[in-house]
Amino acid sequence: MRGMHRKINFITMKILIFTTLLLALLSNEAQCRPPNELNESTQTFYKQIVLPYALDALEPVISRRTMELHYGKHLTAYVDNLNRLIKGTALEGEELENVVLMAEGPLLDNAGQTLNHELYFLQFSPDGGGEPTGKLRRAMTHRWGSVENFMTAMEEAGRTLFGSGWVWLAADRGGNLYILQEENGLNPVRRELCPLLGFDVWEHAYYLDYENRRGDHLKALWQIVNWPEVERRYENN
Ligand code: MN
Repeated sequence: MRGMHRKINFITMKILIFTTLLLALLSNEAQCRPPNELNESTQTFYKQIVLPYALDALEPVISRRTMELHYGKHLTAYVDNLNRLIKGTALEGEELENVVLMAEGPLLDNAGQTLNHELYFLQFSPDGGGEPTGKLRRAMTHRWGSVENFMTAMEEAGRTLFGSGWVWLAADRGGNLYILQEENGLNPVRRELCPLLGFDVWEHAYYLDYENRRGDHLKALWQIVNWPEVERRYENN
């Protein structure tokens, strides 16, 4: 009798833990980007972002030719693959961030790259550059001592990432900042962190313009970072 009680208590405990985990997962709503809208023209759920600038607007930091391939071919393929792979799965219709959080395999690869490139292209502006201000600047100075030190650390993380991937500035819910190296198409949302600024270190992002000089490319990117957009992501975190 006693043993049975213990067993029932154990099962109850397991159910409680499972429910808590499930609720935690469900309450993890997409925070860092606006909700998806159904694309009427193609009847697909995830649509490619529209660039808020011309294809040659980021020259000479990123050439028109690189943009034509990176935005026009690579990102288009990721979005098409995402829409094809998610059809009929339990994740169909989910917010993109939640798909990245919960998917595995090729669906994760393509959902991750869709989210990564959306954040990437929208964080640049031909009027970009300079330094962050306000709350983000304070957090950055607190963490790295100065904005310059942060930039050096971000470049270093990008230079030393072996193979294809991304380097991210990300924040936790307490507003603490992190620099992360992510392999392939992974994104900080997988670690329950909010991505603020991402540098793509796949060769397709820089090889036409900088050949093997990844470090030069990373250094040049500061000229086009749209800090008000990065600050907005931090505020919304
Ligand atoms: Mn890319």
